Parts: sequence; structure tokens; C-alpha cells
Amino acid sequence: MSYDESIAIVGRPVGLTTALTLARRGVPCVVFESADEIAREQRGAAFHPPTLEIFRKLGIEADLTRMGIRIPVWQMRDSSQGVYAEFDLGTLSALTDFPFRFHLPQHYLSSLLLDVLRTLPNVELRFGEKLESVSTDGASATLKLRSAQGSSKVRVPWVVGADGARSMVRKSAGFGFEGFTWREKFLVTNVAMPMEPLGYTGTAYVSDPDHWAVVLKLYDDSHPDLWRVAMPADPDVDDAVLLAPANVQARLRETLGVDMHFPLAYSGTYRVHQRVADTFVRGRILLAGDAAHINNPIGGFGLNGGVHDAFNLGTKLAEVWHGRAGAELLELYSRQRRTVAVEVVQKNSIRNKKTMEERDPQVRRQNQQALHAISLDPDKSREFLLDSSMIASIRRADAIT
Ligand SMILES: Cc1cc2nc3c(=O)[nH]c(=O)nc-3n(C[C@H](O)[C@H](O)[C@H](O)COP(=O)(O)OP(=O)(O)OC[C@H]3O[C@@H](n4cnc5c(N)ncnc54)[C@H](O)[C@@H]3O)c2cc1C
Repeated sequence: MSYDESIAIVGRPVGLTTALTLARRGVPCVVFESADEIAREQRGAAFHPPTLEIFRKLGIEADLTRMGIRIPVWQMRDSSQGVYAEFDLGTLSALTDFPFRFHLPQHYLSSLLLDVLRTLPNVELRFGEKLESVSTDGASATLKLRSAQGSSKVRVPWVVGADGARSMVRKSAGFGFEGFTWREKFLVTNVAMPMEPLGYTGTAYVSDPDHWAVVLKLYDDSHPDLWRVAMPADPDVDDAVLLAPANVQARLRETLGVDMHFPLAYSGTYRVHQRVADTFVRGRILLAGDAAHINNPIGGFGLNGGVHDAFNLGTKLAEVWHGRAGAELLELYSRQRRTVAVEVVQKNSIRNKKTMEERDPQVRRQNQQALHAISLDPDKSREFLLDSSMIASIRRADAIT
């Protein structure tokens, strides 16, 4: 089948965001997704202010923020000393209409995007179709797909690989994906109980050499009080042992320093990588989201960065598609978003993890004192928040020409 005019996009939620950016600019697209439907995902759940600004430009912010939780103040804690710094995003209210972190699991975003895309005449959604390979002849790209009905081929002028960390688009087209994998696994749990009585604001980063944690209040329409606690786990221990309820309870007790039984709603483990593709564009093939860059989730940069890619790419690709710009504009996309992925997201996510797990008590104390001092100084606090809320990364990308 030939889609002579349509941009092919593989994956979601970054893929659906790319599709909406293109469709809003009059560009036809076809989205391929191997899953049949949007399942609940225990992954991205925290959005930063610039991401909400993008959703407003795409016309979905009002519907999105009817759900979710706004977190204006977030914490840095030490496992034994408690809170050592609090940051109030209200400090940024002159710079953004969204001076808070916004917590909403990513499947809600995907579902909303899908609802909107279904109403648009220039978008075709082909769920239940898995990409097997992509090739290009310089003037177009050909996708080989498999579904329950059998295999098919489509030819398109451009393809966007937003098909996640194991991207077939990236592998098939031969992009490099250098970086490293952290030794430990992450143990992610959801507990169905309020954590405000324990002193937590909606986001907290807890430092400890062995028992560090990210504690996050989750939005869920079936649980009023659901919190995620993500902790490190021994990679040499089987998942069956790590995920045994008694082990999870023990890990939560030692991590949170509270002797109680936790009402568990979910437990899972996953491996964490730091990798960036060698380029985000190769001829007719483009990468966005986790297909292009992956990082540890401390700081909540992964999906946010993917949405920033999607909007940047969709805007530029629309200009190229309409013939108002040459394909070199896509090289600018790659330069802007790859630079930010390397210089900001990789650097900050690695730094965040190292700060939380610092073993040397003196270095740990110095780090905490420095962050405490920043949190008390309005100018330094604003600078710090510009960085951690990804406003600085958008500005950095825009400054690259
Ligand atoms: C525990 C955890 C917490 C996180 N928290 C945050 C957070 O708070 N904030 C944040 O910004 N990020 C967070 N992240 C990262 C975030 O989840 C990812 O960055 C995000 O999911 C990337 O979106 P994506 O659309 O690029 O890829 P994915 O979400 O991986 O989606 C890729 C899609 O492509 C489809 N696909 C794959 N291969 C094929 C194929 N061959 N053919 C067709 N379809 C295919 C898949 O079915 C999938 O739907 C977290 C991650 C984890 C694990």
C-alpha cells in the first residue's frame, strides 16, 4: 500500500503527540502501534511546565488537566534526617502558566490523544500492527508490518520512529545507541494509602546510599490515594524473590523508615539505561522519544523530553511537508533535541541519581547543605527550578540554530 502523502509514525504516546502536531498543521499521518489498545502503564507519570505549554498549543491541556494532580512543592529528603530542601514552583509563576508538576500516568495522555486523533480526518490509526523493518531508497521509506491479518508493506515519504527504547525503526535503520546500563534494577511499587501524614509532598527524592527512593503521588481514577515508591534492587536476585510481597513490605519499611504494613497495589522491576542515538535523523527516517534517548526516571525527564521532541519535530516536518522549508530543517531538529538529550537530560538524570545514592557521608552532607542553601535563596532557587522543570532545556534547544 502506498501512502504517498502521509507521514508514518510508529508508537505512542510520543508518536501520538507527533501525529497531533502534524495533523494540526494539515499534514496527513498514519500511526502504527503493535498493541491493540492502550493498557495501564506504570511508567511516566509526572509532567513539567513546558510540556503542559505544548499540550495547550495542541489544544488538549484543558481536558488533560481536568484529571491529574498539581504538585507545586517538591522535596529532597535524607532517609535519616528527613527533608533538607523544598522547592516551590510558584517561584516560576511569572515565567509559566503552569507553576507546578502535573502528575498523570501516561496511559491517560495516550487515551486522550487517541480520542482527539480519532476525530481528525487526516489521521489513520493502525493499532495491532507491528513494524518488522524499515528501509529507504533516499526518496521514500518502506515499512514491513505484521498484524493478525498477515504481513503488509507501506511506502511513505517520511517515517518517525517513536517506538520506544527497543525501537525497531532505530535498529532497522542502523542508528547507533551508545551509553550504559545501570547495574541495579529498579523496584517500582504502588501503595494505596495517603503519604501526606508521613510528611511527604507529592514528589520527594529520598537520599540514601542503599535505600534511596523516589516517592510520587499518582493520579488514578479508581484509587484516591495511590503513591509510587521506586527503589533500587539487587540485579543478582530473581524477580520472583524481589517481588514477593514479604520482600516488598520489608523494602518499603526500611526505605521509608516506618514500621507498618503497606497496602500494595502494584510491584514490578525494570532495568535502567542511559543512551542517546548518534543522530535523530537519517535521510527519510526520524527518531523521537525513548527511541532516540533513554535515561533513569529520577527527575521525570523521559516522557517530557519525548513530548518536547514530538512538538519540535512535528512543527519542522510540517514545514518541510508543505514545501516551505528544505529537509535540512530536520537536521536542526536533530541538533536541537540531541544536544539537549546529551547536555541536559543525560547529565541531570545521572547527577540526580548519584546525589541520591552518594556513599561518602561528608560529600552527602555537603551536597545536602548546598541544595538547602539553594532552596532558601530566591534567585538560586529560580535558576535551579528552571533547570529541573526543563524550561532551561527548551530555551537551550531554541538557541541552537
Ligand atoms: C518507572 C518509570 C517511571 C517513569 N517516570 C517518568 C516521569 O515521571 N516522567 C517522564 O517524563 N518520564 C518517565 N518515565 C519515562 C517514560 O515512561 C518514557 O520516557 C516514555 O514512556 C517514552 O514514551 P515513548 O512514546 O517514546 O515510548 P514508549 O512509551 O516506550 O512507547 C513505545 C510504543 O511503541 C510501540 N512499539 C514498540 N515496538 C513497535 C513495533 N515494532 N511496531 C509497532 N509498535 C511498536 C509499543 O507498543 C509502545 O506503545 C518513566 C519510566 C519508568 C520505567
